[in-house]
Order: sequence, then C-alpha cells, then structure tokens
Amino acid sequence: MSHVVTRFAPSPTGYLHAGNYRTAVFAYLFARHTGGSFIVRIEDTDAARSKLEYEANIHETLAWLHLPADATYRQSEHRKRHRELLEKLVANGTAYVSKEIPQGPGDREEVIRFKNPGGTVSFSDVIRGEIATDVGDLGDFIIARSYDEPVFHFAVVVDDADEHVTHVIRGGDHISNTARQMLIQRALGFHVPLYAHLPLIFDTNRKKLSKRMGAKALTDYRDLGILPEALLNYLAFLGWNPGDDREYLSQNELIESFDLSRVQKGSAIFDEVKLLSVNQHWMRALPVDTFIARGNLSTHDTEKLQKAVPLLQERTHTFQEARDMLSDELSCLFEKPILDHGQLLAKELSGRPGIALMALQGLLEPIKSLPEDVSAETVKDTLLPFADAEEAKGKGGRGAVLWPLRYTLSGQERSPDPFTLISILGKEETISRIQVAVAILEE
Ligand code: GLU
Repeated sequence: MSHVVTRFAPSPTGYLHAGNYRTAVFAYLFARHTGGSFIVRIEDTDAARSKLEYEANIHETLAWLHLPADATYRQSEHRKRHRELLEKLVANGTAYVSKEIPQGPGDREEVIRFKNPGGTVSFSDVIRGEIATDVGDLGDFIIARSYDEPVFHFAVVVDDADEHVTHVIRGGDHISNTARQMLIQRALGFHVPLYAHLPLIFDTNRKKLSKRMGAKALTDYRDLGILPEALLNYLAFLGWNPGDDREYLSQNELIESFDLSRVQKGSAIFDEVKLLSVNQHWMRALPVDTFIARGNLSTHDTEKLQKAVPLLQERTHTFQEARDMLSDELSCLFEKPILDHGQLLAKELSGRPGIALMALQGLLEPIKSLPEDVSAETVKDTLLPFADAEEAKGKGGRGAVLWPLRYTLSGQERSPDPFTLISILGKEETISRIQVAVAILEE
C-alpha cells in the first residue's frame, strides 16, 4: 500500500459527541497501523454556524485522547483554492451560475450548480462493499452559494485531493453524499480515494447520537474522571474488535491490532454503563501514586489516602466518584468522628444493656495484638471470633458488637466495614477512637 493518509474532518458547529470522535479514533489508528499520516481538518466553511469555541474543544479533546495529527488545517483558509476551482468548472461548463428564485430569508438569487451528467456512480466501500447510486435523481446540485462560499461537498473533495488523502474514513451518514462528491472529483480530474463508511452509533434507546440531542462533549467525560485510555479503548470497540477475546487494549495495542477489515457493517451502541466498567478497569490498572495524581485526589494525610486507594479502585468507576467518596463516606478516615451517645447504643437490645461498652472494651485486646500494617482480611480473622463469641452469649448477633465498633470508628451511618476502616486507620488511631467511645459510654 502506498503512503496512507487519513483525515478527521469535523465541522465546529457544536460540541462533538462520542460518535464523532470514534471516527477520529479509527482514522488515527488506521494511519498509525499502516505507518501513514493522520490529518485533522476543521471544516468551518459554514461561517454562520462554526464557532471558535467548538474548534478549540475539538483540539482539546484530541490532545486529551492522545490523537496527535501530523498536519492540521482549517478549511476556510483554502478559500482561494476553492474559488480557483469553482471558476475552472464554470469556465469549462461542468458547473454554472444559476439564477434562483429565493424561497425564504437568506436564500440567494444566484448560486453555483453542478451540471449533473446523470447515470450511475458506484464505488467499493472498504467496509460496506459495492454501493451504486443513480445520480440522475440528484438534479443539478448546488456546489457553492458564491465563488467564496463553496458548500461542504465541494470543499471536502478539493481538500481531500490537495491533502493527498488516500482513505476517507467517516460516519455512515455520509454514504449518501459520496456519489455527489465523486462527480465533482471526476470533473476536477482528481484521483478517487478509498471510502470506508463506519457503522452508525446509537444510544441505548436506539436513538442516533446527535450533536443537537445534547449528547455529552467528551471533555465532560474527562471532567467526570474518565481516563483517556479508557475512552479510547471504548471508542475503538464501537464497531470493531481485535478478533480475539481481549477487551482492554492500550493505545499501542490498538494501533498494532487495528485494521479496517475487521470493522463491522452493523450499527454499534454507545452504552455509558459499559464505558464506566472499561474505565474502572483502567483505574484499577494504575499504581497507587499514579491513581492519586491522575485522579486529582488530595487530603492532608497522604499515607492514609494511599491506603484508601485499593478501596477506591474496588468501589468507584470514575475519579469523580472517588473524590465524592473521599469527601463523603471516607471523610472519617481523615477527620476524627464526633460521636453520638444514642447512636453508639443503637443496636443494644433492651434485654442486654451495656453490651456496646463491653464489646468495645473487649475488642481493645485483640486490636492491640494486630501488626502495624495489616490487611482488612487479617483484621476480620482476628476480630470475628470475638464478635461471634459475643453472639453466642446473647441474641444481639455480631451486629451488637460490630455496629458500635464501626460507628465508633466512623461516626457515620454509612461507611466501609470496620475491618477495612481499621486496616486504613492503623492500630493507634483505632485504639484512640475506641477510647473516646468508651469514655462517652462510661459517663
Ligand atoms: N465535516 C463533515 C462532518 O462534520 C465530515 C466530512 C467528511 O468526513 O467527509 O460531518
């Protein structure tokens, strides 16, 4: 294969959604897989709808996803060239300036139309196979509103040719545009690139993802604490798979495995729940300190935070969840609880007054026997026999022992189990919190 050139050609008319970026991912991976080049071209010819803010967001998102381009263009900068070729087509009679009757506000009295030769235009789509279109139905379609305002079909064809694009990889919604664009290519004497129209993406309600429907901007996922490697992994699997049972591929592995031949024809579903589980996989793969740094997690006690990371990796799917958990359920790790007398006694049965106090005092001995650095498992193995022995004595069950312990350590209705809390708090802090509770109960 000669030097492959792919491009991502978004229109900055809104925040692009995951489906748009899936196109960028496939174009990028294919270019890198083949040792080719990847171009980003901002298609801003629709001046009224294009906004710099959206363009900036596109560059920001591509940088975040690590999809660097070998060249970046802006379509509006090619106006002179577009004009030159429009003039050429009009001069040689393949296009003409057409007088129009304006139908509504903003309509022109003159546009440039392409003289449709009729017949059938066919091409072999890399993904979908032979596609033939009877172009007669298209009539003499508009290719520019004026010499300085080419429409998308014209600009895209000229730019693809000038940028030596070999593979037009784009969304399946562009299939119906291809015949029109090929007519323009022929008229300009351009080489026809290969077309690869990607499967459409629907949301879980089987609705098409659309810029207008408020589908999230990808930077919203970044702000939620989705990792770029997770999103990249997830997007690459929207309509493609490596042909084996691997589900989690790094960028290098994706580049190595990616090929257009394995892209499916059928549509794909964008499922946020699945994305979260892929993200959890990549969060769990991070070493403790990297997890803290990339998650922007901070507390005044780094050592405890480090110990809490496995718990966060087990329970959370995004860094936002991790941050929320730290400031909510896990805040007891970093601040001493304020204990309520009534809550300490909440699980006391009326027939057995004093069991909470006895439990806490009784637990002090086995807790003192624990090593400094201890796993939740070991804490559990050490303390459960004590809780179960109490159970044997009364009808309160383990809960009569474990509730006051958990509450003593956390001061919260909800918290991780007491064994996990002890493994993170450490022996000394655990004992000191129990002593506070004992003192309250003895008052
Ligand atoms: N600018 C077009 C869009 O955003 C894409 C053009 C193309 O890929 O050919 O839908």
